[in-house]
Amino acid sequence: MTEKKAKTKAEKKTKKEKVEKAEEKEKPAKFKFECQKCGACCQNRDPIPVTFSDLTRWTKQGSFMSIILPHLELRGVSEEDSLGQLALIPYVKMKDEDENSKGICPFYDEENKICNIYFTLPLFCKTFPLYFSGEKYYVSDPTCPGIGQGDMTKEKLQDMRNTSVQDFNERADTTIALIPLQGLFIRHFMKQSQDQIDKMSAEDKDKLDELLKKSQNETPQDPDAKDN
Ligand code: SF4
Ligand code: SF4
Repeated sequence: MTEKKAKTKAEKKTKKEKVEKAEEKEKPAKFKFECQKCGACCQNRDPIPVTFSDLTRWTKQGSFMSIILPHLELRGVSEEDSLGQLALIPYVKMKDEDENSKGICPFYDEENKICNIYFTLPLFCKTFPLYFSGEKYYVSDPTCPGIGQGDMTKEKLQDMRNTSVQDFNERADTTIALIPLQGLFIRHFMKQSQDQIDKMSAEDKDKLDELLKKSQNETPQDPDAKDN
């Protein structure tokens, strides 16, 4: 092969590699998602964890006390995770919960199939169905009919990834911040109770002792037991 031919061949190879690289960049992402608004993720679902940023946003918008608060409850974050066992964080409690705490979201309008707080979704709902575990991204519910639908651009995928990372970080921050706060609240309330007891008269203290002894001797009643 002449030197000229070898040069042309090398140039062609480089060009081909460049095109392949560019095509690789343009390849559609594997994960595609477009919500089909079926409402499945708002029904038969687990309680929704709420973060400080959700609470702050709702408070600023004035929707917290009237709309959100009545549906919140404190729960342990997770039974398997030792950090989770220590922390109680706010969750949106589901309606008509089954034995696995799954139920219908109180903000879901079943008749019109819409979310009543769509304008200010909890971050956990905003990122559905793509989540971040701290190490990798994962799809929390492969049965979601939106998976595999629509176009997925790099920007949209990056946006979804950013939201899932934000959700992960904010839930972790909320959990970590609440552990010392819980200890603080408990110590505060114990001190308050002790201060109240110290202020009581000897007669009232005797009454309180009497009540405590009585309650300790009582057998708890089964609320479902029928009177004979
Ligand atoms: S996210 Fe999925 S399950 Fe939820 S409404 Fe959209 S398509 Fe349905
Ligand atoms: S807050 Fe809205 S999007 Fe989230 S589960 Fe409830 S109804 Fe669905």
